[in-house]
Amino acid sequence: MGTIDLIQNLNDEIKKCKKCRLTMTRTNVLCGEGDLCAELMLIAQAPGEQEDKEDKMFIGPSGEVLDELLKIICIDRKENYMTNLIKCMLPKNRKPKSDEVASCSQYLDREIDLIHPGMLAPLGYYAAVKSGAIKRFVVMAGCDGRQKARSYYTEVAENLPKDTVILTAGCAKYRYNKLALGDIGGIPRVLDAGQCNDSYSLAVIALKLKEVFGLEDINDLPISYDIAWYEQKAVAVLLALLYLGVKGIRLGPTLPAFISPTVLKVLVEKFDIKPIGEVKADVVAMMTGRQQAHKKKVV
Ligand code: SF4
Repeated sequence: MGTIDLIQNLNDEIKKCKKCRLTMTRTNVLCGEGDLCAELMLIAQAPGEQEDKEDKMFIGPSGEVLDELLKIICIDRKENYMTNLIKCMLPKNRKPKSDEVASCSQYLDREIDLIHPGMLAPLGYYAAVKSGAIKRFVVMAGCDGRQKARSYYTEVAENLPKDTVILTAGCAKYRYNKLALGDIGGIPRVLDAGQCNDSYSLAVIALKLKEVFGLEDINDLPISYDIAWYEQKAVAVLLALLYLGVKGIRLGPTLPAFISPTVLKVLVEKFDIKPIGEVKADVVAMMTGRQQAHKKKVV
């Protein structure tokens, strides 16, 4: 039997599956789809509400996130095989329970055996965390300049753990995009959206991820912001981030010229804006995320 028939048999089995409680809340069971000879297999967490209703993979907000990410790394959807860790919708986008993962992940294992891709890319929060592939994103966008102090961004890129991905836009990337930072399951560790104006793509990704994960606060995403400042359009980017409610942004190597003591007081109190500091300490602080920072403050 060839791969087409074996996948068809597996999908027939998945469509009839009633192994866990998600049978009660699903409309459809979503099987994998795409190129059976794909080098890259994209693995999302579970179908969303719209996907469940329409019986189609990666549509709605999660599909828009995927399209933005694939556009950045110049990959065509049709060249990949796309599937879910959990084949039935999770009510209210909740995280999968361990028994649901145990029941359903055997289907994923069989898909991987049959397709035999060269690379696996876990996309969903749970899939990524479960696999341990990506722990955190660091937005290191903004401007480049000649000052020696800007080598901070090169050193941060060198010191970030290998399970982090840098999201960038603008010329700040020239400080680190020639470094051999490698990839995570085929995803480059520097994802470059383009120029300053393309920061829009990064904001769209953050907003869609917030929607997909069902988060109330954009600051609960595993994203840190370490922005290289040089005025110009960076002002618009910073204001856009503040408008979205992003807190804890690091700015450097100088603070914006428009920041008077009064404005600085408001930005610190309301948005927890801070200047860049010592490389290793900043990397540790960014990796601990917002919750750790809050704990420290309470103590
Ligand atoms: S989530 Fe997986 S194990 Fe549970 S019913 Fe659906 S296909 Fe079966």
